[in-house]
Amino acid sequence: MSLAHTVLQDAFGYEHFRGSQQAIVEHVIGGGDALVLMPTGGGKSLCYQIPAIVRQQQDQGTTIVISPLIALMQDQVSSMHEVGVEAAFLNSTLDYDQTRDVEMQLLSGGYTLLYVAPERLNTPRFLGLLDELHAMGKLALFAIDEAHCVSQWGHDFRPEYRELTVLHERYAGVPRIALTATADALTRADIVERLQLEDARQFISSFDRPNIRYTIVEKKDATTQLLRFIEHEHDGEAGVVYCQSRRKVEELADALNQAGISALPYHAGLPPEVRQLHQNRFLREESIVMVATIAFGMGINKPDVRFVAHVDMPKNIESYYQETGRGGRDGLPADAWMAYGLQDVVNQRRMIDESPADDTFKQVMRGKLDALLALAEATDCRRVRLLAYFGEQYGTGGDRDSAHPELAAAAAGKAPRYQCGSCDNCIHPPKTWDGTDAARKLLSTIYRAHEASDITFGTSHIIDIVRGKDTDKVRQFGHDKLSTYGLGDMYSESQLRGVLRQLLAVGALATQKVHTEAGYSFETLTLCDGSRAVLRGEQAVQLREASAAKTSRSRVRNN
Ligand code: ADP
Ligand code: ZN
Repeated sequence: MSLAHTVLQDAFGYEHFRGSQQAIVEHVIGGGDALVLMPTGGGKSLCYQIPAIVRQQQDQGTTIVISPLIALMQDQVSSMHEVGVEAAFLNSTLDYDQTRDVEMQLLSGGYTLLYVAPERLNTPRFLGLLDELHAMGKLALFAIDEAHCVSQWGHDFRPEYRELTVLHERYAGVPRIALTATADALTRADIVERLQLEDARQFISSFDRPNIRYTIVEKKDATTQLLRFIEHEHDGEAGVVYCQSRRKVEELADALNQAGISALPYHAGLPPEVRQLHQNRFLREESIVMVATIAFGMGINKPDVRFVAHVDMPKNIESYYQETGRGGRDGLPADAWMAYGLQDVVNQRRMIDESPADDTFKQVMRGKLDALLALAEATDCRRVRLLAYFGEQYGTGGDRDSAHPELAAAAAGKAPRYQCGSCDNCIHPPKTWDGTDAARKLLSTIYRAHEASDITFGTSHIIDIVRGKDTDKVRQFGHDKLSTYGLGDMYSESQLRGVLRQLLAVGALATQKVHTEAGYSFETLTLCDGSRAVLRGEQAVQLREASAAKTSRSRVRNN
């Protein structure tokens, strides 16, 4: 049995390595650099903990773990102590004397693992310590956790991570292992470049979470839809509901409580002690629903979260994957449920447009948003699309290893699967209808109304014109004289909303902010380059049929 395997069994009490753990561990023990991409819960920690233990046994000294999660360092150190491994952390929670003690211990070789925050690492004082260890040949390994923090395309950019090139430059012979649970191709390339990991072997695990069922529904009344979802599917179970704003968090938590569901709010506007209390209750009790902004999440490790719901759309697929990935860590079935609507598209676009970032950055963010919108509008398997975004073909296994192209080729040779059987679109394949004609009518109405009145209009008014409604506003602007007036009276309002939503999602329509004299502002619709192909009839628009069955059922219930 290999040394690594002995440590796995004796120290950690596990029988077998999982996935590519063994290959990673052996590569790193042998002194190689590695980039590890593994989904949350995949077992990344062992990938550096076991090499740390083995290299310490081989008299090569201490492993330095760089982690941004200060709040979790204590837990990580305690869990090392539990398995009999000497470990400590250095961060801003320690006072002067405690820091001194840790530093002394470090220099005397007392630790197998030392956890540090990135901002601490690049200080003269800490580099001085590393220099001393290095001179003694006692720097065993650098482990860079949450490596996506180095990339501004990731969801959690930390500028200090950029400084981590010092490790490579100053301590060239010391092996490095970088680990992350999120990485699309762009972020991955950025990690390699920024951390100078060009020569590192890449270990890319499958990102599939087979026990998570994906569902994305059209948003009508999000609160009612969410209530129904929880009552029907997850009565008395723990879950997380993500909202965009603090106000919405409060409102929704109230609504759930009134409906008899134990819900707690969590957002950055609550006092720290309240947040702590709510987090503790969520972790300890069995059936709390946490209604939260994205302030709630990083490092939450509750295994039996049975659902993660989004009542507002996140900003990209990485965030969606990361947030939904907090469900079902115990391997049992869990739901990822999202309600998504036209307003979400408009809001997310506006947040990008109004952000202070430069144009290149905004362009990348728009591209990422579009990928998520395409996932939401998809009428085929969500899992296939989700994995494709991370460069993975569903059904081919997913484990990829840059040093074994023959394995990758074998995986690639496996026939990909086009259906997972456990997402909404696979379970109930949606009926689609051809929205191309409706799309052309909407787009030419937007064009003509703008031309006739010299201002742009919002969704409701455009839909009114196309459906031939007789409203004050239509008469006021003389829009009943437009040649497209009433041409779409065969479509329902919700059908036309669906068409507009998809046109926005595929970039065939844009929005523009308009300020009124009274100080209000609202979003209006305007054509863009992408509109042309649809107008000319060169691009078809396929839409999911409105779920008529569901609407009639809810009507029956409400009456
Ligand atoms: P990650 O950091 O990738 O999210 P962790 O390192 O926290 O995941 O591991 C997730 C869980 O899986 C932990 O409870 C860990 O102890 C367990 N685990 C990891 N590797 C193995 C293994 N080879 N056998 C059994 N359990 C494992
Ligand atoms: Zn599917």
